[in-house]
Amino acid sequence: MSKNKIKKVVIVGGTHGNEFTGAYLAKHWLKNPNLVKRDGFKTDVVFANEKAFKEVRRYIDKDLNRSCSQEIIKSANSSLHEEKLAKELNQKIGPKDDREKNADFVIDLHTTTANMGMSLVVSNNSELTWLAASYLSSQFPTLKIYRWQGDEEGAYVNSLGSDGFAIEIGAIPQGVLRADIYKQSEELVYKLLDFLSKLDEVSRTITLYDHVKLVDFPRDEEGEITAMVHQNRQDSDFELIHKSEPMFITFNGETIVYEDDEPLYGVFINEAAYYEKGFAMCLARKIEYSF
Ligand SMILES: [Zn+2]
Repeated sequence: MSKNKIKKVVIVGGTHGNEFTGAYLAKHWLKNPNLVKRDGFKTDVVFANEKAFKEVRRYIDKDLNRSCSQEIIKSANSSLHEEKLAKELNQKIGPKDDREKNADFVIDLHTTTANMGMSLVVSNNSELTWLAASYLSSQFPTLKIYRWQGDEEGAYVNSLGSDGFAIEIGAIPQGVLRADIYKQSEELVYKLLDFLSKLDEVSRTITLYDHVKLVDFPRDEEGEITAMVHQNRQDSDFELIHKSEPMFITFNGETIVYEDDEPLYGVFINEAAYYEKGFAMCLARKIEYSF
């Protein structure tokens, strides 16, 4: 890979207004741009959703991180706040799918209420994305890589650039700053920028958690949730779930177990933002991926 390839890197914070870590990091870097400046390329910092941040909400009208599809970006008029933002972001980061003109790498900063530790959510199969993920894995032994091409593929903010991924760190409540998680996100971004500047040789085989399916809460006929994530499942992200192990517990105290034969790993377990999306956790298969 040519070292001249990377011209522009974009760091996005505040995509979700109630995820304060990325929002405050973006503000910090907008005030101190030298911190994210590296040789060989330009680094832009974008604060994605000021309005949602001020209201401490994930979004105003709809999820911005599911709004960056070609269909929405190309639509003639959008009245929804986040659809307008998606079009603005496409001006700053895109044009989406134009690898000649768009940002070479997009780092989108998120946090989760799930106990996922430091993790990357990767939704493309492009080489530089995987080289960067491989490098970060070598630098942070606890880092987990989750490949999710599940819901609304191609509508993530990072899909506006040629390469990139979302950083997800947790567990942290919505609307809260924690110094430890802030520091972890900051260090991850600095290491990533260092890598993009130098493009050191890295392993081309990486351990990743490959998305298999979404699991919804048990519900009644009206769609009301009838059970909670089981206490033994809570906080057990990236741990293997075997047949007959607990998944949910009803309000009466009855345990609902995992019924599939294939053991899978739980991810985004009991993420607060996903109640409205209709899932309680994701299930993933651990694989060795070569690229
Ligand atoms: Zn988020």
